[in-house]
Amino acid sequence: MRLLAWLLLGLLVVWAIRSKKSAMHEGKTEVPRLEEPELMVPCMHCGVHFPASEAVSQAGMSFCSEEHRRLHFPS
Ligand SMILES: [Zn+2]
Repeated sequence: MRLLAWLLLGLLVVWAIRSKKSAMHEGKTEVPRLEEPELMVPCMHCGVHFPASEAVSQAGMSFCSEEHRRLHFPS
């Protein structure tokens, strides 16, 4: 009889924890998406590394900005 009481108590605790957890997770179902690792390239002018998708390229060289491309290729 005592064992049954403990079993019921255990079930009650598990239920309490479960309901508390579900309440905490409510409305927070979205998991932050990990960003894809992007290729980093160095700027030919200042040497800073930046994502290749943001590169300004000329003559096979990459620059962090249009300004640095102009500084490197003065015209
Ligand atoms: Zn630069």
